[in-house]
Amino acid sequence: MSLFGGIEAGGTKFVCAAGTGPEDVREEVRFATTTPDECIGKCLEFFQAIQSVHGPLSAVGIASFGPLDPGPGSPTFGYITTTPKEGWAHTDLAGPISRALDIPVGFDTDVNGAALGEFRWGAAQGLNTFVYLTIGTGIGGGAMVNGTLIHGLLHPEMGHVLPPHDWMADPFAGVCPYHGDCLEGLASGPAIEQRWNQKAENLPPDHQAWDLEARYLAHGIVPQIYILSPQRIILGGGVMEQAHLFPKIRRQVRAILKDYIQSPAILENMDQYIVPPGLGNRAGVLGALALARAAAGE
Ligand code: ADP
Ligand code: ZN
Repeated sequence: MSLFGGIEAGGTKFVCAAGTGPEDVREEVRFATTTPDECIGKCLEFFQAIQSVHGPLSAVGIASFGPLDPGPGSPTFGYITTTPKEGWAHTDLAGPISRALDIPVGFDTDVNGAALGEFRWGAAQGLNTFVYLTIGTGIGGGAMVNGTLIHGLLHPEMGHVLPPHDWMADPFAGVCPYHGDCLEGLASGPAIEQRWNQKAENLPPDHQAWDLEARYLAHGIVPQIYILSPQRIILGGGVMEQAHLFPKIRRQVRAILKDYIQSPAILENMDQYIVPPGLGNRAGVLGALALARAAAGE
């Protein structure tokens, strides 16, 4: 069987892996996100060492932070584009890796990668239309619709929708540098930390932060249900490590929908409708491997 490489390119850290899937990750390395040159160099060093031990790689998949250009045929395909992350705007990430290794490179958003990994091996097996949202340092979403990962004009930016913001109940202005109180601005990990003056991971489960968080996330999820009609919604990212959020979010989604969507998936089986990633916190790096397999035509 052929061997694949995967790169989970995050704003904080990079994870590179070589293997074929969840049961077969031969080697893995992680390092801090520094400069593009340094990170690309470390990726190449890892994959070249892999090839000398395990033989040639068939393809590499990159699941990256963005915004980025995932459009094959576009002159800036494979680039991270207008990111505010210092030193990374307009960086060609896929090109140097593809040229140095001389193999196909699959390139997509971190969340589309995770969605593909979940489709192949995780909580979206057997579905053709679903959403993967991550709630972490930022909020982002990927989606598969009728079996195809959505790109469109650029790629979805599901974290920047505007949930209702009751300024009396929640005077916090939000942290999004572009919009202030968009979903990411109000409900990302850094938003929780700034509003309550402590890290999200340190807030007790009975803290009032979590009801507010569940309400904002539900207002981000409901439009996805109306617009894409997903068969399932997968919620990953650091903040969703708070497992007690799931029942709260499910209740809020039901309350906002008001039984308008008449499907047993929502009316009876909400526990299987809004779920954590089947691949857990491995969704990112395994998603990158899934992108590599797709790039190789598998
Ligand atoms: P990234 O978004 O950088 O890929 P994560 O998905 O881990 O990384 O998100 C990091 C954010 O999630 C931080 O704001 C952190 O405070 C928050 N976070 C991480 N772990 C937890 C946890 N167990 N409970 C709540 N929040 C968490
Ligand atoms: Zn925003």
